[in-house]
Amino acid sequence: MTTVYHDQDADLTDLAGETIAVVGYGNQGRSQALNLRDSGLRVIVGNIGDEARARAKSEGFETHDVVEASARADVLMLLIPDEVMPEVYTRDVAPRLREGACLSFASGYTVTFDLVKPKTTLDVVLVAPRMIGPGVRDRYVEGRGFPSFVAVHQDATGRGKARMLALAKGIGSTRAGCLELSMAQEAHLDLFTEQGFGPAMGLALRQSIELLVEQGYPPEAVLMELYMSGELAYSAQRFVDTGLIAQMDFHSHTSQYGSMTRSARLMDVDLKPRLLEHLDEIRSGKFAKEWDAEQKAGLPLYNQMRQMRELVPLAEWERKARRAFRMD
Ligand code: NDP
Repeated sequence: MTTVYHDQDADLTDLAGETIAVVGYGNQGRSQALNLRDSGLRVIVGNIGDEARARAKSEGFETHDVVEASARADVLMLLIPDEVMPEVYTRDVAPRLREGACLSFASGYTVTFDLVKPKTTLDVVLVAPRMIGPGVRDRYVEGRGFPSFVAVHQDATGRGKARMLALAKGIGSTRAGCLELSMAQEAHLDLFTEQGFGPAMGLALRQSIELLVEQGYPPEAVLMELYMSGELAYSAQRFVDTGLIAQMDFHSHTSQYGSMTRSARLMDVDLKPRLLEHLDEIRSGKFAKEWDAEQKAGLPLYNQMRQMRELVPLAEWERKARRAFRMD
């Protein structure tokens, strides 16, 4: 049975008197710190860089370096990029974080793949918004929420769940709902969206573009038709608002008939075995090891592939279409 927590399941007083150190004042860190403070909680900010730290200070936060913030924390929200987390945790956070503190993540990646190994004396929780950082703040200010995945990975004090729920309420997420699962499940789902669903969707899009251009349709028209007009993005919002099935009623009868009958014809295209390969690499930790080795080697493949993506015909077609429609 899936559990989804709402406002009434969480109590902000479970964090009363506790200092929450938000480490990292970037996409998630800034939004979450502001939301927690506006929810009446005591928040300080820990950051390395001058710019983000100066911003936090100008926005009224007590700021420290990461080591000092860790020493002052009852709850520490580690909101820095996953790639730097192992080093920062081991060097700056772990030696100073006191017994019984709560360590909170917005992504299950580093703990799931053993890149960060929290001490057993800590509560370890996950509050992972399904929302980009600016959206976390905007929704809070508008009085709306945003969904999150939450988990209690380690409960050293017996207060892990209460603290996790209070954090989720403090950032405004229980207004929409927080679904409980394991940290590993969150990491797997997140990576699969990026490595399974995303590339499969990209493949359908790329092959459609190539086919239509090969068949003589102007590239600018093809791109506009398929996604650049914004119609697809608008429809995608309808998927969210009403559901994938119900939104079909917003399309013409011709569109619905053509789409349903031709979808049925493609039923025999079975992507699942290939997608399962990607999921298995995620679950076994093979991907995490590969990505860790790539970073340690100085990102040779990553940089090579970034260069290659600028050379595909689509990059030039997009530039032309953007110029033609004065989108820049
Ligand atoms: P950002 O890239 O926005 O984090 C930037 C912050 O991290 C800045 O304050 C930066 O400091 C600090 N930082 C960067 N490098 C270091 C370092 N070596 N040592 C210490 N601090 C450093 O991260 P996100 O907000 O995107 O991600 C934070 C967490 O949230 C991650 O676990 C991510 O997976 C998760 N998440 C992110 C989402 C998103 O929408 N981006 C959505 C859901 C979860 P400075 O600027 O001074 O260099």
